[in-house]
Amino acid sequence: MAQVYPFTDPKQAEEKPPTVMVSGHGCFVTSDQGKTYLDGVAGLWCASLGFSNERLIAAADAQMKTLPYYHSFMGRTTDRTNELAAKLASLLPGDLNHVFFGCSGSDAVETAAKIVRFYWNAKGKPEKKHIIAREAAYHGSASTSAGLTGMDYCHTGFDLPAPDILRTGRPHYYSDAKPGESELDFSKRRAAQLEDLILEIGPERVGAFIGEPVIGSGGVIPPPEGYWAEIQAVLKRHGVLLIADEIITGFGRTGAWFASQRYGLQPDLMTMAKQLTSAYFPVSAVAISDGVRAGLANLASELGTFGHGFTYGGHPVGCAVALETLAIYEEMDLPRHVQRLGAYLEERLAPLSNHPAIGDIRVMGLMGGVQFHEAEVAKAALEACEERGLLLRRIDGTIAISPPYVITEAELDQLVDLLTESLQAVAGERHLEARRA
Ligand code: PLP
Repeated sequence: MAQVYPFTDPKQAEEKPPTVMVSGHGCFVTSDQGKTYLDGVAGLWCASLGFSNERLIAAADAQMKTLPYYHSFMGRTTDRTNELAAKLASLLPGDLNHVFFGCSGSDAVETAAKIVRFYWNAKGKPEKKHIIAREAAYHGSASTSAGLTGMDYCHTGFDLPAPDILRTGRPHYYSDAKPGESELDFSKRRAAQLEDLILEIGPERVGAFIGEPVIGSGGVIPPPEGYWAEIQAVLKRHGVLLIADEIITGFGRTGAWFASQRYGLQPDLMTMAKQLTSAYFPVSAVAISDGVRAGLANLASELGTFGHGFTYGGHPVGCAVALETLAIYEEMDLPRHVQRLGAYLEERLAPLSNHPAIGDIRVMGLMGGVQFHEAEVAKAALEACEERGLLLRRIDGTIAISPPYVITEAELDQLVDLLTESLQAVAGERHLEARRA
Protein backbone atom coordinates (compact mmCIF):
# COMPACT_ATOMS: atom_id res chain seq x y z
CA MET A 1 0.00 0.00 0.00
CA ALA A 2 1.70 3.20 -1.09
CA GLN A 3 -0.85 5.78 -2.14
CA VAL A 4 -2.53 8.04 0.41
CA TYR A 5 -5.87 8.52 -1.32
CA PRO A 6 -7.62 11.92 -1.34
CA PHE A 7 -10.97 12.20 0.47
CA THR A 8 -10.74 8.55 1.55
CA ASP A 9 -10.54 6.85 4.96
CA PRO A 10 -6.99 5.36 4.86
CA LYS A 11 -7.84 2.42 7.14
CA GLN A 12 -10.97 1.54 5.23
CA ALA A 13 -8.90 1.64 2.03
CA GLU A 14 -6.63 -1.06 3.49
CA GLU A 15 -9.64 -3.37 3.79
CA LYS A 16 -11.48 -2.26 0.65
CA PRO A 17 -9.01 -0.75 -1.84
CA PRO A 18 -10.39 1.73 -4.39
CA THR A 19 -11.70 0.50 -7.73
CA VAL A 20 -8.80 0.69 -10.20
CA MET A 21 -9.72 2.22 -13.55
CA VAL A 22 -7.57 1.16 -16.47
CA SER A 23 -9.23 2.44 -19.64
CA GLY A 24 -11.95 4.67 -20.97
CA HIS A 25 -14.05 5.04 -24.08
CA GLY A 26 -16.74 7.65 -24.77
CA CYS A 27 -18.72 8.05 -21.52
CA PHE A 28 -17.54 4.68 -20.15
CA VAL A 29 -14.59 3.64 -17.98
CA THR A 30 -13.36 0.09 -17.34
CA SER A 31 -11.76 -1.27 -14.17
CA ASP A 32 -8.92 -3.76 -13.79
CA GLN A 33 -11.64 -6.32 -12.97
CA GLY A 34 -13.00 -5.90 -16.49
CA LYS A 35 -16.18 -4.16 -15.32
CA THR A 36 -17.36 -1.25 -17.47
CA TYR A 37 -19.20 1.71 -15.94
CA LEU A 38 -21.23 4.52 -17.46
CA ASP A 39 -19.67 7.57 -15.81
CA GLY A 40 -22.63 9.79 -14.98
CA VAL A 41 -20.43 12.39 -13.29
CA ALA A 42 -17.63 12.73 -15.89
CA GLY A 43 -15.00 11.80 -13.29
CA LEU A 44 -15.20 14.80 -10.96
CA TRP A 45 -17.60 16.94 -13.04
CA CYS A 46 -14.84 17.47 -15.57
CA ALA A 47 -14.30 14.95 -18.42
CA SER A 48 -16.76 16.84 -20.62
CA LEU A 49 -15.66 15.27 -23.91
CA GLY A 50 -15.56 11.74 -22.52
CA PHE A 51 -12.57 9.47 -22.19
CA SER A 52 -11.33 8.92 -25.74
CA ASN A 53 -11.35 12.17 -27.68
CA GLU A 54 -8.84 11.73 -30.52
CA ARG A 55 -8.56 15.45 -31.25
CA LEU A 56 -7.45 16.27 -27.72
CA ILE A 57 -4.96 13.42 -27.79
CA ALA A 58 -3.59 14.68 -31.13
CA ALA A 59 -3.35 18.28 -29.83
CA ALA A 60 -1.34 17.11 -26.82
CA ASP A 61 0.85 14.88 -28.99
CA ALA A 62 1.61 17.67 -31.49
CA GLN A 63 2.51 20.15 -28.73
CA MET A 64 4.62 17.54 -26.89
CA LYS A 65 6.64 17.13 -30.08
CA THR A 66 7.05 20.90 -30.66
CA LEU A 67 7.58 22.38 -27.20
CA PRO A 68 6.70 20.03 -24.35
CA TYR A 69 7.30 22.63 -21.66
CA TYR A 70 8.13 26.21 -21.04
CA HIS A 71 7.23 28.55 -18.22
CA SER A 72 5.80 32.07 -18.15
CA PHE A 73 8.06 33.58 -15.46
CA MET A 74 10.29 36.66 -15.68
CA GLY A 75 10.04 37.71 -19.28
CA ARG A 76 9.26 34.40 -21.01
CA THR A 77 6.09 32.60 -22.04
CA THR A 78 4.85 30.38 -24.88
CA ASP A 79 2.79 31.00 -28.01
CA ARG A 80 0.10 28.54 -26.89
CA THR A 81 -0.16 30.21 -23.46
CA ASN A 82 -0.67 33.64 -25.01
CA GLU A 83 -3.15 32.22 -27.50
CA LEU A 84 -5.23 30.63 -24.75
CA ALA A 85 -5.24 33.83 -22.68
CA ALA A 86 -6.52 35.80 -25.69
CA LYS A 87 -9.14 33.15 -26.49
CA LEU A 88 -10.44 33.13 -22.91
CA ALA A 89 -10.57 36.93 -22.79
CA SER A 90 -12.73 36.83 -25.94
CA LEU A 91 -15.16 34.33 -24.37
CA LEU A 92 -15.35 35.72 -20.82
CA PRO A 93 -18.23 37.98 -19.83
CA GLY A 94 -18.02 41.66 -18.81
CA ASP A 95 -14.62 43.22 -18.31
CA LEU A 96 -12.84 40.00 -17.36
CA ASN A 97 -10.10 40.66 -19.89
CA HIS A 98 -7.02 39.29 -18.10
CA VAL A 99 -6.03 35.74 -17.21
CA PHE A 100 -3.58 34.11 -14.77
CA PHE A 101 -2.85 30.40 -15.28
CA GLY A 102 -2.42 27.61 -12.74
CA CYS A 103 -2.74 23.84 -12.60
CA SER A 104 -5.72 23.07 -10.34
CA GLY A 105 -8.96 24.52 -9.13
CA SER A 106 -7.53 24.88 -5.64
CA ASP A 107 -4.54 26.90 -6.84
CA ALA A 108 -6.87 29.12 -8.88
CA VAL A 109 -8.83 29.90 -5.70
CA GLU A 110 -5.57 30.52 -3.79
CA THR A 111 -4.52 32.92 -6.56
CA ALA A 112 -7.86 34.74 -6.48
CA ALA A 113 -7.62 35.14 -2.68
CA LYS A 114 -4.04 36.44 -2.96
CA ILE A 115 -5.09 38.89 -5.68
CA VAL A 116 -7.83 40.20 -3.35
CA ARG A 117 -5.21 40.92 -0.66
CA PHE A 118 -2.78 42.44 -3.17
CA TYR A 119 -5.50 44.58 -4.73
CA TRP A 120 -6.66 46.08 -1.44
CA ASN A 121 -3.06 46.75 -0.42
CA ALA A 122 -2.61 48.50 -3.78
CA LYS A 123 -5.71 50.57 -3.01
CA GLY A 124 -4.29 51.61 0.37
CA LYS A 125 -6.90 49.58 2.30
CA PRO A 126 -4.74 47.01 4.10
CA GLU A 127 -7.54 46.17 6.57
CA LYS A 128 -9.95 45.05 3.85
CA LYS A 129 -8.93 41.38 3.86
CA HIS A 130 -11.72 39.13 5.16
CA ILE A 131 -13.29 36.86 2.58
CA ILE A 132 -16.86 35.64 3.01
CA ALA A 133 -17.80 32.16 1.78
CA ARG A 134 -20.96 30.14 2.19
CA GLU A 135 -22.02 26.99 3.99
CA ALA A 136 -21.91 23.99 1.62
CA ALA A 137 -19.43 25.76 -0.70
CA TYR A 138 -16.58 23.79 -2.20
CA HIS A 139 -13.58 25.86 -3.24
CA GLY A 140 -10.75 23.34 -3.05
CA SER A 141 -8.43 21.72 -0.54
CA ALA A 142 -5.21 23.74 -0.32
CA SER A 143 -5.05 26.11 2.68
CA THR A 144 -7.06 29.24 1.91
CA SER A 145 -9.26 27.33 -0.54
CA ALA A 146 -9.97 24.59 2.03
CA GLY A 147 -10.81 27.28 4.57
CA LEU A 148 -13.23 28.87 2.11
CA THR A 149 -14.82 25.47 1.54
CA GLY A 150 -17.81 25.14 3.83
CA MET A 151 -17.40 21.47 4.83
CA ASP A 152 -16.12 20.54 8.28
CA TYR A 153 -14.26 17.54 6.88
CA CYS A 154 -11.93 19.95 5.06
CA HIS A 155 -11.19 21.84 8.30
CA THR A 156 -11.07 19.44 11.22
CA GLY A 157 -7.52 18.43 12.07
CA PHE A 158 -6.03 20.98 9.67
CA ASP A 159 -6.49 24.06 11.89
CA LEU A 160 -8.76 25.64 9.29
CA PRO A 161 -10.33 27.98 8.44
CA ALA A 162 -8.00 30.89 9.22
CA PRO A 163 -9.66 33.74 11.14
CA ASP A 164 -9.93 36.01 8.06
CA ILE A 165 -12.52 33.68 6.53
CA LEU A 166 -16.18 34.29 7.37
CA ARG A 167 -19.23 32.17 6.64
CA THR A 168 -22.76 32.99 5.59
CA GLY A 169 -25.83 30.86 4.76
CA ARG A 170 -26.18 28.59 1.73
CA PRO A 171 -28.83 29.40 -0.89
CA HIS A 172 -30.64 26.07 -0.44
CA TYR A 173 -34.29 27.00 -0.94
CA TYR A 174 -35.66 23.45 -0.80
CA SER A 175 -33.93 22.59 2.50
CA ASP A 176 -33.63 25.95 4.27
CA ALA A 177 -36.66 28.09 3.34
CA LYS A 178 -39.21 28.75 6.08
CA PRO A 179 -42.72 27.34 5.56
CA GLY A 180 -44.56 29.55 3.08
CA GLU A 181 -41.46 31.65 2.28
CA SER A 182 -41.20 32.52 -1.44
CA GLU A 183 -37.94 32.03 -3.34
CA LEU A 184 -37.49 35.78 -3.59
CA ASP A 185 -38.11 36.31 0.13
CA PHE A 186 -35.63 33.55 0.91
CA SER A 187 -33.05 35.24 -1.37
CA LYS A 188 -33.67 38.55 0.42
CA ARG A 189 -33.22 36.84 3.78
CA ARG A 190 -29.88 35.41 2.67
CA ALA A 191 -28.79 38.83 1.34
CA ALA A 192 -29.80 40.47 4.64
CA GLN A 193 -27.81 37.82 6.53
CA LEU A 194 -24.78 38.65 4.38
CA GLU A 195 -25.22 42.38 4.96
CA ASP A 196 -25.52 41.87 8.73
CA LEU A 197 -22.25 39.95 8.70
CA ILE A 198 -20.48 42.67 6.67
CA LEU A 199 -21.76 45.36 9.04
CA GLU A 200 -20.75 43.34 12.09
CA ILE A 201 -17.14 42.93 10.86
CA GLY A 202 -17.09 46.40 9.27
CA PRO A 203 -17.20 46.91 5.48
CA GLU A 204 -13.69 48.39 5.63
CA ARG A 205 -12.48 44.94 6.74
CA VAL A 206 -14.31 42.80 4.15
CA GLY A 207 -12.39 42.34 0.89
CA ALA A 208 -14.38 39.77 -1.11
CA PHE A 209 -17.25 37.32 -1.29
CA ILE A 210 -16.74 34.00 -3.09
CA GLY A 211 -19.50 31.80 -4.50
CA GLU A 212 -20.17 29.10 -7.03
CA PRO A 213 -23.00 30.43 -9.25
CA VAL A 214 -24.56 26.98 -8.76
CA ILE A 215 -23.17 25.05 -5.79
CA GLY A 216 -21.80 21.69 -6.99
CA SER A 217 -20.09 19.45 -4.44
CA GLY A 218 -22.20 20.91 -1.63
CA GLY A 219 -25.37 19.33 -3.03
CA VAL A 220 -26.15 20.74 -6.51
CA ILE A 221 -27.83 23.92 -5.27
CA PRO A 222 -29.03 26.45 -7.86
CA PRO A 223 -29.59 30.05 -6.81
CA PRO A 224 -33.22 30.73 -5.92
CA GLU A 225 -35.06 33.52 -7.74
CA GLY A 226 -33.40 36.92 -7.35
CA TYR A 227 -30.53 35.53 -5.26
CA TRP A 228 -27.54 36.88 -7.20
CA ALA A 229 -29.15 40.29 -7.82
CA GLU A 230 -29.79 40.66 -4.07
CA ILE A 231 -26.31 39.48 -3.10
CA GLN A 232 -24.57 41.69 -5.65
CA ALA A 233 -26.50 44.76 -4.46
CA VAL A 234 -25.13 44.15 -0.94
CA LEU A 235 -21.57 43.66 -2.23
CA LYS A 236 -21.73 46.84 -4.32
CA ARG A 237 -23.07 48.85 -1.38
CA HIS A 238 -20.06 47.91 0.72
CA GLY A 239 -17.32 47.83 -1.93
CA VAL A 240 -16.79 44.07 -1.60
CA LEU A 241 -15.28 42.20 -4.58
CA LEU A 242 -17.11 39.21 -6.07
CA ILE A 243 -15.18 36.03 -6.91
CA ALA A 244 -17.29 33.67 -9.06
CA ASP A 245 -15.97 30.14 -8.66
CA GLU A 246 -16.87 28.63 -12.04
CA ILE A 247 -14.60 25.61 -11.70
CA ILE A 248 -17.57 23.26 -12.21
CA THR A 249 -20.01 25.59 -13.95
CA GLY A 250 -17.62 27.21 -16.46
CA PHE A 251 -17.54 26.07 -20.08
CA GLY A 252 -21.09 24.99 -20.60
CA ARG A 253 -22.06 22.83 -17.63
CA THR A 254 -25.24 24.82 -16.89
CA GLY A 255 -26.14 25.46 -20.54
CA ALA A 256 -24.34 28.81 -20.89
CA TRP A 257 -20.65 29.34 -21.58
CA PHE A 258 -20.41 30.63 -18.01
CA ALA A 259 -23.07 30.34 -15.32
CA SER A 260 -22.33 33.99 -14.48
CA GLN A 261 -24.07 34.82 -17.78
CA ARG A 262 -27.03 32.59 -16.99
CA TYR A 263 -27.57 34.09 -13.53
CA GLY A 264 -26.47 37.69 -14.17
CA LEU A 265 -23.26 37.79 -12.10
CA GLN A 266 -20.71 40.52 -12.77
CA PRO A 267 -17.64 39.12 -11.05
CA ASP A 268 -14.36 40.93 -10.41
CA LEU A 269 -12.52 37.60 -10.45
CA MET A 270 -13.51 34.22 -11.86
CA THR A 271 -11.87 30.84 -11.25
CA MET A 272 -11.95 28.13 -13.93
CA ALA A 273 -10.56 24.61 -14.45
CA LYS A 274 -12.11 21.16 -15.09
CA GLN A 275 -14.05 21.52 -18.39
CA LEU A 276 -11.39 23.95 -19.71
CA THR A 277 -9.39 20.95 -20.93
CA SER A 278 -12.09 18.32 -20.52
CA ALA A 279 -9.71 17.22 -17.72
CA TYR A 280 -7.19 15.79 -20.21
CA PHE A 281 -4.51 18.08 -18.77
CA PRO A 282 -4.48 19.94 -15.43
CA VAL A 283 -5.00 23.61 -16.34
CA SER A 284 -6.74 26.27 -14.26
CA ALA A 285 -7.17 29.98 -14.76
CA VAL A 286 -8.25 33.07 -12.88
CA ALA A 287 -9.96 35.74 -14.93
CA ILE A 288 -9.35 39.27 -13.68
CA SER A 289 -11.40 42.41 -14.39
CA ASP A 290 -9.87 45.57 -15.87
CA GLY A 291 -10.23 47.39 -12.54
CA VAL A 292 -8.59 44.69 -10.41
CA ARG A 293 -5.84 44.21 -12.98
CA ALA A 294 -5.08 47.95 -12.91
CA GLY A 295 -4.72 47.96 -9.11
CA LEU A 296 -2.60 44.83 -9.19
CA ALA A 297 -0.34 46.27 -11.92
CA ASN A 298 0.25 49.49 -9.96
CA LEU A 299 1.50 47.75 -6.82
CA ALA A 300 3.38 45.01 -8.70
CA SER A 301 5.15 47.63 -10.77
CA GLU A 302 6.09 49.59 -7.66
CA LEU A 303 7.50 46.38 -6.15
CA GLY A 304 9.22 45.40 -9.39
CA THR A 305 7.26 42.18 -9.92
CA PHE A 306 3.97 40.35 -9.35
CA GLY A 307 5.51 37.85 -6.96
CA HIS A 308 3.24 34.88 -7.59
CA GLY A 309 3.37 31.93 -10.00
CA PHE A 310 3.55 28.18 -10.52
CA THR A 311 6.22 26.25 -12.46
CA TYR A 312 3.61 24.49 -14.58
CA GLY A 313 1.15 27.40 -14.85
CA GLY A 314 0.27 28.07 -18.49
CA HIS A 315 1.85 24.77 -19.55
CA PRO A 316 1.96 24.76 -23.36
CA VAL A 317 0.64 21.20 -23.65
CA GLY A 318 -2.26 22.04 -21.36
CA CYS A 319 -2.94 25.26 -23.28
CA ALA A 320 -2.89 23.37 -26.62
CA VAL A 321 -5.40 20.88 -25.18
CA ALA A 322 -7.56 23.73 -23.83
CA LEU A 323 -7.54 25.52 -27.21
CA GLU A 324 -8.65 22.33 -28.96
CA THR A 325 -11.31 21.73 -26.29
CA LEU A 326 -12.69 25.24 -26.85
CA ALA A 327 -12.63 24.73 -30.64
CA ILE A 328 -14.68 21.54 -30.20
CA TYR A 329 -17.13 23.34 -27.89
CA GLU A 330 -17.63 26.07 -30.50
CA GLU A 331 -18.21 23.50 -33.24
CA MET A 332 -20.78 21.66 -31.13
CA ASP A 333 -22.58 24.98 -30.38
CA LEU A 334 -21.96 24.32 -26.71
CA PRO A 335 -24.70 26.24 -24.88
CA ARG A 336 -27.46 24.96 -27.18
CA HIS A 337 -26.07 21.42 -27.15
CA VAL A 338 -26.06 21.30 -23.33
CA GLN A 339 -29.47 22.99 -23.09
CA ARG A 340 -30.96 20.36 -25.41
CA LEU A 341 -29.48 17.38 -23.55
CA GLY A 342 -30.21 19.02 -20.19
CA ALA A 343 -33.88 19.40 -21.13
CA TYR A 344 -33.94 15.73 -22.07
CA LEU A 345 -32.34 14.72 -18.76
CA GLU A 346 -34.84 16.85 -16.85
CA GLU A 347 -37.77 15.29 -18.72
CA ARG A 348 -36.47 11.77 -18.07
CA LEU A 349 -35.86 12.43 -14.35
CA ALA A 350 -39.24 14.15 -13.78
CA PRO A 351 -41.27 10.96 -13.05
CA LEU A 352 -38.90 10.18 -10.16
CA SER A 353 -40.22 13.20 -8.28
CA ASN A 354 -43.37 11.15 -7.52
CA HIS A 355 -41.32 8.45 -5.81
CA PRO A 356 -41.89 8.41 -2.02
CA ALA A 357 -38.13 8.33 -1.34
CA ILE A 358 -37.41 11.49 -3.39
CA GLY A 359 -37.85 15.04 -2.11
CA ASP A 360 -36.55 17.31 -4.86
CA ILE A 361 -35.03 17.16 -8.33
CA ARG A 362 -32.89 20.03 -9.66
CA VAL A 363 -31.49 20.20 -13.20
CA MET A 364 -29.47 23.08 -14.70
CA GLY A 365 -28.07 22.11 -18.12
CA LEU A 366 -26.09 18.90 -17.65
CA MET A 367 -25.85 19.34 -13.88
CA GLY A 368 -28.47 17.55 -11.85
CA GLY A 369 -29.26 16.70 -8.24
CA VAL A 370 -31.76 14.15 -6.98
CA GLN A 371 -32.42 14.84 -3.31
CA PHE A 372 -33.71 11.98 -1.19
CA HIS A 373 -35.62 12.35 2.07
CA GLU A 374 -33.08 10.11 3.80
CA ALA A 375 -29.31 10.13 3.21
CA GLU A 376 -29.19 6.39 4.05
CA VAL A 377 -31.49 5.57 1.12
CA ALA A 378 -29.40 7.77 -1.20
CA LYS A 379 -26.29 5.90 -0.03
CA ALA A 380 -27.85 2.51 -0.70
CA ALA A 381 -29.14 3.69 -4.11
CA LEU A 382 -25.68 4.92 -5.07
CA GLU A 383 -24.17 1.54 -4.20
CA ALA A 384 -26.90 -0.22 -6.18
CA CYS A 385 -26.10 2.03 -9.16
CA GLU A 386 -22.44 1.08 -8.96
CA GLU A 387 -23.28 -2.64 -8.84
CA ARG A 388 -25.31 -2.09 -12.02
CA GLY A 389 -22.44 -0.28 -13.76
CA LEU A 390 -23.41 3.36 -13.22
CA LEU A 391 -21.13 5.84 -11.45
CA LEU A 392 -22.81 8.79 -9.74
CA ARG A 393 -21.90 10.78 -6.65
CA ARG A 394 -23.62 11.28 -3.32
CA ILE A 395 -23.57 14.43 -1.20
CA ASP A 396 -25.50 13.66 1.99
CA GLY A 397 -29.01 12.97 0.72
CA THR A 398 -28.41 14.21 -2.83
CA ILE A 399 -27.21 12.16 -5.76
CA ALA A 400 -25.34 14.34 -8.26
CA ILE A 401 -25.43 13.81 -12.01
CA SER A 402 -23.04 15.59 -14.40
CA PRO A 403 -22.33 13.42 -17.43
CA PRO A 404 -19.87 14.18 -20.22
CA TYR A 405 -21.34 16.53 -22.84
CA VAL A 406 -20.82 13.80 -25.45
CA ILE A 407 -23.45 11.60 -23.80
CA THR A 408 -26.21 10.53 -26.19
CA GLU A 409 -29.93 10.48 -25.49
CA ALA A 410 -29.79 6.67 -25.46
CA GLU A 411 -27.03 6.83 -22.81
CA LEU A 412 -29.06 9.35 -20.78
CA ASP A 413 -31.93 6.83 -20.96
CA GLN A 414 -29.55 4.16 -19.69
CA LEU A 415 -28.41 6.45 -16.85
CA VAL A 416 -31.94 7.29 -15.71
CA ASP A 417 -33.15 3.67 -16.11
CA LEU A 418 -30.26 2.34 -13.99
CA LEU A 419 -30.87 5.00 -11.34
CA THR A 420 -34.60 4.22 -11.27
CA GLU A 421 -33.97 0.48 -11.09
CA SER A 422 -31.46 0.99 -8.23
CA LEU A 423 -33.89 3.23 -6.39
CA GLN A 424 -36.70 0.66 -6.75
CA ALA A 425 -34.38 -2.07 -5.48
CA VAL A 426 -33.31 -0.24 -2.31
CA ALA A 427 -36.45 1.77 -1.55
CA GLY A 428 -38.58 -1.33 -2.24
CA GLU A 429 -36.49 -3.29 0.27
CA ARG A 430 -36.85 -0.55 2.89
CA HIS A 431 -40.61 -0.53 2.47
CA LEU A 432 -40.67 -4.29 2.97
CA GLU A 433 -38.47 -3.93 6.08
CA ALA A 434 -40.80 -1.23 7.45
CA ARG A 435 -43.80 -3.49 6.84
CA ARG A 436 -42.07 -6.46 8.54
CA ALA A 437 -41.12 -4.36 11.59
N1 PLP B 1 -13.89 25.03 -6.78
C1 PLP B 1 -14.92 24.27 -7.13
C2 PLP B 1 -16.26 24.89 -7.34
C3 PLP B 1 -14.76 22.89 -7.28
O1 PLP B 1 -15.82 22.12 -7.58
C4 PLP B 1 -13.48 22.33 -7.10
C5 PLP B 1 -13.28 20.88 -7.25
O2 PLP B 1 -14.20 20.12 -7.32
C6 PLP B 1 -12.42 23.16 -6.75
C7 PLP B 1 -12.65 24.51 -6.59
C8 PLP B 1 -11.04 22.62 -6.52
O3 PLP B 1 -10.50 22.13 -7.70
P1 PLP B 1 -9.28 21.10 -7.67
O4 PLP B 1 -9.80 19.82 -7.13
O5 PLP B 1 -8.87 21.02 -9.12
O6 PLP B 1 -8.21 21.68 -6.83
